[in-house]
Amino acid sequence: MQKKPTITIDGKACEFSDGETILAVARRNRIDIPTLCHLKAATPTGACRICMVEVEKARSLQAACALPAGDGMVVRTESEKVARSRRMVLELLLSSGRHDCGMCAGVSECRLQELAVRYGVSGRKFPPTPLRYPAETENPFIMRNFSKCILCGRCVQACNDVQVNNALSVGYRGRKGKIVAGEDVPYRDSECVFCGECVQACPTDALVLTSANVKVHAWEGQRVRTTCGYCGVGCQMWLHVKDNAILKVTGVEDVGPNYGSLCVKGRFGYDFVGHPDRLTKPLIREGEGFREASWDEALGLAAKRLGEARDKSGPDAIGVLSSARASNETNYVVQKFARGVLKTNNVDHCARL
Ligand code: SF4
Ligand code: SF4
Ligand code: SF4
Repeated sequence: MQKKPTITIDGKACEFSDGETILAVARRNRIDIPTLCHLKAATPTGACRICMVEVEKARSLQAACALPAGDGMVVRTESEKVARSRRMVLELLLSSGRHDCGMCAGVSECRLQELAVRYGVSGRKFPPTPLRYPAETENPFIMRNFSKCILCGRCVQACNDVQVNNALSVGYRGRKGKIVAGEDVPYRDSECVFCGECVQACPTDALVLTSANVKVHAWEGQRVRTTCGYCGVGCQMWLHVKDNAILKVTGVEDVGPNYGSLCVKGRFGYDFVGHPDRLTKPLIREGEGFREASWDEALGLAAKRLGEARDKSGPDAIGVLSSARASNETNYVVQKFARGVLKTNNVDHCARL
């Protein structure tokens, strides 16, 4: 059998397939090469220069996200030369805008702050650049804080390549560079559909959720995995929960069917869960109004009336509506109940139930 090509990363021999990048091979082998701009499922841009690694016999450091692995290559991911380069890149990124990590609310999980701590970078080596663009606070759901944007381009790729909404691009040039929506208008006046993919992709606090509920530190509360109930796609999501309240929702990365993506309903449509108007007990109509009842009483009454209708007018007098938002299993049980118990084939669904 032909021997598979091998690359050595930090002393570990790793087999690879044709076309795999150094970064992909390292991650598959649980070797951590830090990145800021790299977005899975999108073309590598090599924009942030954080993933630079030392490749034996190469004259300069190489971007691990873009360089394909080669047979016999020897790579060092944390040599002194690599660490020095990363420190310099981080100093420059932190001096661009206002990152003030010590003061930052850190309401998202800031990868830049995490790397600054990891490499012992203060961000005070160079004077900060002037603030060029005010924050954009008028959108529903999402706030844009340009002073924390490092122009990594992940939001642009998340919007254009992953969600294919094509709302974002890199505008202007050089020191005036800015991520723009449409012709540099607020999100709400652009093609943006508020899916929030860009917020989940942003490695800093440049894009944050405006909901008051999310003004907590990322490490507070707990994550609960669940399935979105809005439509039949069944997206996998994390509910970030504290004191029995949902603070925010994020997509579960690396798991189908959505691989981290959510639509506007899945990501932002959770206020009803704790809404005071939400019905938590069955109601029985009496005259013009309703009265609260126990589940036993409500189910008993429904069974009695359905039985009466079937006995008096036949099973075809009854129809059952289920919901496109319910799970396959729920809809299966509903049709079994209709056919097996009520003896009717009048089963349908209502997309709005
Ligand atoms: S919220 Fe969605 S549509 Fe809007 S800019 Fe972000 S990724 Fe694009
Ligand atoms: S807004 Fe966030 S994801 Fe977009 S370029 Fe700036 S730092 Fe990167
Ligand atoms: S997040 Fe959107 S697409 Fe995904 S299951 Fe929920 S409603 Fe459907």
